[in-house]
Amino acid sequence: MSLYIDIQYINELSLLLRNFKKRSSNLWNCSCPICGDSSKNKSKTRFYFLIRGNNVNTYCHNCNYSASFPYFLKSMYPAIHTKYNLEKWKAGATKRYHHIEDPSKSNTSISSTKDITFDIIFQRLDRTSLDNKALMYCNSRGIPVENHQRLYYCSDVKKIGKYFTKYDGTILTSEERLIIPFYNENKEVIGIQARALDKDAKIRYLTFRKDDQELIYGLDVFNKNNTSYVVEGPLDSLFLPNCLAAATSNLLRVKDHVIKNFTTYIFDNQPRNKEVCNQMEKAVDEGCNVFFWNDVKEKDINEYITNNKVKKEDLLDFIGKNTYNGLLGKVRFNQWKRV
Ligand SMILES: [Zn+2]
Repeated sequence: MSLYIDIQYINELSLLLRNFKKRSSNLWNCSCPICGDSSKNKSKTRFYFLIRGNNVNTYCHNCNYSASFPYFLKSMYPAIHTKYNLEKWKAGATKRYHHIEDPSKSNTSISSTKDITFDIIFQRLDRTSLDNKALMYCNSRGIPVENHQRLYYCSDVKKIGKYFTKYDGTILTSEERLIIPFYNENKEVIGIQARALDKDAKIRYLTFRKDDQELIYGLDVFNKNNTSYVVEGPLDSLFLPNCLAAATSNLLRVKDHVIKNFTTYIFDNQPRNKEVCNQMEKAVDEGCNVFFWNDVKEKDINEYITNNKVKKEDLLDFIGKNTYNGLLGKVRFNQWKRV
């Protein structure tokens, strides 16, 4: 292996690259030498060097530049590249280098609990510029700032094929999207929902899966031994503490992950929707705590908060006062439903 040569050359570049910093044993970053990163703010560092298997890839979150380390070196620093090439050749490594490959095939150990590769391919919302389209969308919906780190921006939906390689080449559009990652309990990304940012988009949510693991949003930060909530939409769940999102109206699909007495099921406010009513009745019959919307027009938590400027404490109070179970739940359900 001659990876040590690459590392030696990355270190050598540290003198030439602005804001250069080693982030971990396999990750370095700096201001991007391709796009300038940026004309407004010289402290931006959106260019990355990442060791993947036996190769190093380079990547910029701002201009979307992506290339193998040798290619980057050759195009930016040809004199250094000549020297590098000679050393690599001497070390017997003359194989071709590749762009970002399937993370599941990589031996790179990931030190943090979250996935560094994911953070490199997509842009975490708390690290984007203020005029980022996904950030502005989340701000318009009032998503709590402390949860921005759980969401990402993607400048081109095709990039999802770089992460879940089974989709590589199958995504034909190239729109910007808000990325909602789904984790399993081991904090591995097992699914992605990509929400359209263009209000004329034909499909609002696209869903991508790693394999057949069930997609429940919030398992990575959930503690079933505390008071908890279950809602339908992942973005709605960001307004409530310790909350899972089922991502369908079948909220009971999360029941194996929660302790019944500790959790409250909050269905969307759709008393005329037969499917929602069936699910709600089932939850009541199973003895769950179920929240009932009183006479409000809003259809979900996010709308309710935005329209009524509700504070977090008041929201929990509102939910608590309108939650029923058992026989009272049955009575309340019959008053609420409209089908
Ligand atoms: Zn750049």
